[in-house]
Formats: sequence, C-alpha cells, structure tokens
Amino acid sequence: MTAPATTVRLTATDRCDRCGARARVLATLPSGGELLFCQHHANEFEARLKDMDALVVAAADES
Ligand SMILES: [Zn+2]
Repeated sequence: MTAPATTVRLTATDRCDRCGARARVLATLPSGGELLFCQHHANEFEARLKDMDALVVAAADES
C-alpha cells in the first residue's frame, strides 16, 4: 500500500456532480463512494464532507 494521495489528476471530462462545471476536488467517502465537486461546491460542502469523514483531495493544476 502506498500513502494516500494528496493530489489527484482530474481532466476536463471530470465534472462536478452538482452543477456540471469542471471538477476541481475529489471527495472519497468512508463507504468507498467518490464525489466530484467544482471549487464552488467543494467550498459549499466542505463542512458536510468533514462531518462524513470524507477524504477531500484537490486536483493538481494541469498546464
Ligand atoms: Zn459545482
């Protein structure tokens, strides 16, 4: 096992589950589910994700 990633690569095809904007954050739930959020919704759901003990990882910038 390697250490959990602190960044993740998301592409233009990865879309926010809430609004369809380009995803900037990947949230992995304790149940194993994954959610993608744009920056706006990542901010909006940040507290809730922490309550759910989700692992929230910001996407690495791509050039
Ligand atoms: Zn969004």
